[in-house]
Amino acid sequence: MFRKILIANRGEIAVRVMRTAHRLGIACVAVYSDADAEAMHVALADEAYRIGPPPARDSYLHIEAVIGAAIKSKADAIHPGYGFLSENAAFADACAAAGIVFIGPPADAIRAMGLKDAAKRLMADAGVPVVPGYHGERQEADFLASEASRIGFPVLIKARAGGGGKGMRRVDDAASFRGALEAAQREALSSFGDGAVLIEKYVSSPRHIEVQVFADAHGSVVHLGERDCSLQRRHQKVIEEAPAPGMTLLLRDAMGEAAVKAAAAVGYRGAGTVEFIADASDGLRLDRFYFMEMNTRLQVEHPVTEAVTGLDLVELQLRVAAGEPLPFSQRDVVLNGHAVEARLYAEDAAKDFAPATGRLHRLRLPDAFARIDTGVREGDTVTPFYDPMLAKVIVHGKTRDEAFAQLSRALGETQVAGCVTNAGFLRALVDLPQVRAGDVDTGLIARSMDSLTGAAEPDAVVLGLAALASLGLLGDSGPAASPFAHFRVWGHAVYRVRLLRGDRELEVMATALGRTVYRIESQGVPPCELAVTPRVAGVARFAAGERIGVAHHAVFDGAVAIFVDGAAFTFTVPPVFTADEDQTGSGDRIAAPFPGTIKLAQAEAGRRVKKGDPLLVLEAMKMDHTLSAPRDGVVADVLVKPGQQVKDGAVLVTLEAAHG
Ligand code: ADP
Repeated sequence: MFRKILIANRGEIAVRVMRTAHRLGIACVAVYSDADAEAMHVALADEAYRIGPPPARDSYLHIEAVIGAAIKSKADAIHPGYGFLSENAAFADACAAAGIVFIGPPADAIRAMGLKDAAKRLMADAGVPVVPGYHGERQEADFLASEASRIGFPVLIKARAGGGGKGMRRVDDAASFRGALEAAQREALSSFGDGAVLIEKYVSSPRHIEVQVFADAHGSVVHLGERDCSLQRRHQKVIEEAPAPGMTLLLRDAMGEAAVKAAAAVGYRGAGTVEFIADASDGLRLDRFYFMEMNTRLQVEHPVTEAVTGLDLVELQLRVAAGEPLPFSQRDVVLNGHAVEARLYAEDAAKDFAPATGRLHRLRLPDAFARIDTGVREGDTVTPFYDPMLAKVIVHGKTRDEAFAQLSRALGETQVAGCVTNAGFLRALVDLPQVRAGDVDTGLIARSMDSLTGAAEPDAVVLGLAALASLGLLGDSGPAASPFAHFRVWGHAVYRVRLLRGDRELEVMATALGRTVYRIESQGVPPCELAVTPRVAGVARFAAGERIGVAHHAVFDGAVAIFVDGAAFTFTVPPVFTADEDQTGSGDRIAAPFPGTIKLAQAEAGRRVKKGDPLLVLEAMKMDHTLSAPRDGVVADVLVKPGQQVKDGAVLVTLEAAHG
């Protein structure tokens, strides 16, 4: 077995690989970009090496830098994780050239599965069912159009070098074929530098079912059952489960056998996944599943297979890469219960799932009965440089119903503040009747969008808790906002607090009726009487009429988050400038919300600005983010220059108080 391995990755997968390696007594070397110097995977490693600046092409994708770190640290082997260099045959070659074991398949197997058309031809020859279509070399528009008609519409045009759904077009009739072909070729050329396409029959009621395979260097190839990944959004997996709903023993055998054949055909070694598409218009059927592609690495969703098989796939990867034989055979593989995984992302479901960034002021993940795979901790910052996945929440129940009920509960207990997440969307999806019934296909999320993204509206209890928390009246956290009015009527203190929910401004009035009892009023919601008893920091018990509950809260950076009954509500608390503060105020500081490069500095010291005026442009992950004046004032100082790299939280511009 290896003595020391380097993990050429970051985030949850680097942490997950380390967990197993450490258990086996193997030392772990981490690599990191400048954006990750403080990251969890670096903190947990036995040693760590900087490999470059934040952009992935200059660090995590930089083959020489990664190999250099492996040589320096004297690592025996490199685990590539998933993404980044995991399916890069040149990287596997580079490892071999440096005398380091690549914990993955032979480079030739990666190459054989790298192009969709060649892989499909290879699979068809090996007797693996492929989607009816044209997977050949000819690319003339006339010829492809005639092939599309022969296959029968609807068809799918796919880039042979494709990935992530790019260069893919569904065509419903002959008339629209040429336009779609040109668009797909254009997109393929610009995304992959290869405009070649293939044409496939469009499978109706498509379900994505993939089979986990494992092969050792001694001729043994087994499969570990299937995962259903049909819950997708724009071809991206959202929730994965094992086994697939509706799977029969006969079909599992057939798909497993096809997957083993696929792996054997390319001389596979290690962990791999053979992805199939199944036409489920008539339920799952033996003659209606087709090879789509093989992923020559460990998958994000491997934990559901680990849950139902009881195996540690990373341990198997390490053993196989070290030359050991697989310690079991096909008939020893037994599946137990049902497992589901949800991918918690920093993204805004209501804004077309735009990736979100920010500091994780609160991060509580439910580990009582769920397995949590994560690479971030409370207090960490989500930067725009990498995939914004925060964690995977994995549950394992005796039955599918039990597993989904557990997952719903676990998502309800998830508390994230400081960064928008898809937790509410995931919970709504997990609770969707069709999902609970196992009636899933790759289009279900798109069809159900309306019921998945509607955010719950805060009632008077939530508004009252938010207002009281922001005033520091829930016990622990210091006041985040001064009430913009605080006066007494008949001896009662009355607090008015402004809260922003998105663009909407809400005014909450809390009238103290006793030491911890308030009457809460806000426009558009029935008022309530709210009694609060702080428990421990960030947690309060409350009573509102008949209802008794526990609410968690987090107050940070001009915002307040309330977690109650499995729902999360975040409000911005607008700063209140009183005449006093304006005179004594040291002025505002505009800080970098995430690390990046200053692209443009419009602000000039001494210049008067109005609220909303752009001050700077910060570039991160090839995106420009404009930082603007939070209020009217005068620029006191500009502390950065264009081209300068800045750290998260660095003060960039200061404002003086606006005089006169
Ligand atoms: P990519 O490599 O770009 O992700 P894939 O070939 O893996 O492309 O396909 C991605 C997704 O597109 C699948 O998971 C499935 O949802 C859908 N898809 C692929 N092929 C077909 C097909 N022939 N018919 C219907 N849907 C398909």
